[in-house]
Amino acid sequence: MAQHRITLLPGDGIGPEIMAVAVKVLKTVGETFDLTFEFQEALIGGAAIDATGEPLPAETLEMCKNSDSVLLAAIGGYKWDTLPRHLRPETGLLGLRAGLGLFANLRPATILPQLIDASSLKREVVEGVDIMVVRELTGGIYFGQPRGVFTTETGEKRGVNTMAYTDSEIDRIGRVAFETAQKRRKKLCSVDKANVLEVSQLWRDRITALAADYPDVELSHLYVDNAAMQLVRSPKQFDTIVTGNLFGDILSDAAAMLTGSIGMLPSASLGASGAGVYEPVHGSAPDIAGQDKANPLAQVLSAAMMLRYDLNQPDAANHIEQAVLRVLDQGYRTGDIIAEGNTLVGCEAMGNILIKALTEE
Ligand code: NAD
Repeated sequence: MAQHRITLLPGDGIGPEIMAVAVKVLKTVGETFDLTFEFQEALIGGAAIDATGEPLPAETLEMCKNSDSVLLAAIGGYKWDTLPRHLRPETGLLGLRAGLGLFANLRPATILPQLIDASSLKREVVEGVDIMVVRELTGGIYFGQPRGVFTTETGEKRGVNTMAYTDSEIDRIGRVAFETAQKRRKKLCSVDKANVLEVSQLWRDRITALAADYPDVELSHLYVDNAAMQLVRSPKQFDTIVTGNLFGDILSDAAAMLTGSIGMLPSASLGASGAGVYEPVHGSAPDIAGQDKANPLAQVLSAAMMLRYDLNQPDAANHIEQAVLRVLDQGYRTGDIIAEGNTLVGCEAMGNILIKALTEE
């Protein structure tokens, strides 16, 4: 029997509510697929600030490092918004990514037939969309040096950030992207701004060179402005997209919103080895926290991604994803995705319906 040690980081706001559902789901599939999970819970974000004075206690990072995988809910809330930057919940998240060396962020944007009318785009444009955005997470302009606001000789203030990538940084994210495309429809589009930026020219050259190692993957390149346009014009042309930190931040949000439902979107952040972090794309939704209104499905689908990518249990992952589709087919919806003719349920009830769907087959 496979034994997996999972660190749970429920965080803030709706985090504990949606995490409770995901844990129940994991325990249920564990019984079906003969997997044993050893869950250990740790503090991050606002909850950690309240308890320990810092957003990522050393103990939390240590526990994450010593586990097979990390399931995170969400961090943040109004209460902590005015703290200095180094004490903000978001700093805990950045510290976790850096501490685990998570350089690749995988964000699927899949249109579920049951939720197609939730998209702001026309049905014929989004029907069948199934995109994976692979974003570089620990380099580029968010981390490049020099950075800061400096005073020039004339006394003027000058804000500076630096977009920089090395060969090895590009190669490692490139390989994750090619391998991801191999598991999908074998099409990879690399997005850059090589017509203007030298760093992007290097990016394009390295990705092009890597393609020789993946002859089964069809590689294309787009400038980021065109990619943004194509994403809303004709998103079905994309399978896997790979891009740097800044462009990926923006494009992955745009791709996510094609689906129209933030409460449904999972993500994975992966390193070269060791535990990855799996979390919903949405935040801690403080406006509905503690009211049993949250949609737990993005958290549940994040757990499915964890099973697929970190724990190598694709059958268990498929089983969860299929159960989510069946529950939607049965018409059950939380408030964020409700439409006419559906049955409105709360977070806990959605979890119970899902457990039933998982065990009914
Ligand atoms: P948010 O994603 O928390 O909420 C945006 C809107 O979507 C809200 O109306 C919320 O009620 C709704 N929503 C989000 N998730 C939902 C779910 N599962 N079910 C139903 N409705 C849902 O974004 P925000 O309001 O901009 O940020 C709130 C807090 O979350 C802030 O402190 C922010 O810093 C933090 N945040 C954290 C993360 C993270 O943990 N990775 C990501 C984004 C924002």
